[in-house]
Amino acid sequence: MSTSTQGDLAVDATDAQVLLEVDDVVKHFPVRSGALIDRTHAQVRAVDGVSFSLKVGETLGLVGESGCGKSTLARLITALHPVTSGHVRFRGQDITALNRRQMRPIRKSVQMVFQDPYGSLNPRRRVGSILSDPFSVHEKMSRAEVKRQVQELMARVGLSPEHFNRFPSEFSGGQRQRIGIARALALRPDLIVCDEPVSALDVSIQAQIINLLEDLQDEFMLTYVFIAHDLSVVRHVSDRIAVMYLGKLVETGPVEEIYSNSRHPYTASLLSAVPVADQAFRTARRERVILTGDVPSPVNPPSGCRFHPRCPKAQAICATEEPPLEHKTGDPIGHLTACHFPVNPGETLANASRDAVPAPEAAVGATEGVDQ
Ligand code: SF4
Repeated sequence: MSTSTQGDLAVDATDAQVLLEVDDVVKHFPVRSGALIDRTHAQVRAVDGVSFSLKVGETLGLVGESGCGKSTLARLITALHPVTSGHVRFRGQDITALNRRQMRPIRKSVQMVFQDPYGSLNPRRRVGSILSDPFSVHEKMSRAEVKRQVQELMARVGLSPEHFNRFPSEFSGGQRQRIGIARALALRPDLIVCDEPVSALDVSIQAQIINLLEDLQDEFMLTYVFIAHDLSVVRHVSDRIAVMYLGKLVETGPVEEIYSNSRHPYTASLLSAVPVADQAFRTARRERVILTGDVPSPVNPPSGCRFHPRCPKAQAICATEEPPLEHKTGDPIGHLTACHFPVNPGETLANASRDAVPAPEAAVGATEGVDQ
């Protein structure tokens, strides 16, 4: 039996319902310099000790500002990047320890839908050819059977099978994302990691794609990791939410619990910026909190709590002691927060006062060119 190592996040890997375990996963990218001698002079700490688990049929919404490590984490889960340390287990099997040949059957079960429906499709290949790839690589089928499977797939995601020989440029943005979804769905995966799948689409098209993903989840018992920065979209699709800040999970829990009782000041700040249509639902807690300062560099993140240079509730201890991601008294099981002074029910952050916190030494910026 394997268990994750982080306190309340421990799960029994023999539980048949557990599909994915991310266990203390770290990904550091070297920052190199030197024309003649290649030297690593720093590390971008894109993901720094993230743990969570996911059950069959669940959707985990992963949120956080640009550069927080969400996309890197997506690529670690799908084994597109190797981890620096830690483990990713799929149905109990540690996929971080597998070679390419051993990974082949896992690749069929773990797929990804990318953000950019324009950039993720080869413009010089016909859609039928693009969608034939998974069958040609992983299955032994005749050409006629592959074509039949592809056209069936196109119809299932709302594309006309007659458009088999068209190029991606002949489809709209929403249709191209349907092609991306069809490609991910081709081999009947168990887990699909959706990396900002609707953020490049018009609002009217976003709803269609979200509905399609939900229908497919019901039909094929899919499990999703759904990455987005639009918190309204995440709330709609997710069972649980995980909030990332500078490479770490700072809060996680059931979706309605996080939206109604966020305990981490960063989560509360993000949620305070979500537009609410009905003024009656605007409570003091939802007063807009404007975060000051830039996101610090993951090359040299702040000491203690990484959010402390921007946190409206920061106290001296926040600059020196990193808060563990843990269950707080009174919160439901599964709601974990990494904060020394979590937000209390009814508390408004807009009036919170910071203690004198030492100025952070971390540099700001320096993340250009690193895809996180
Ligand atoms: Fe803010 Fe301190 Fe909590 Fe970090 S630990 S979120 S700085 S109150």
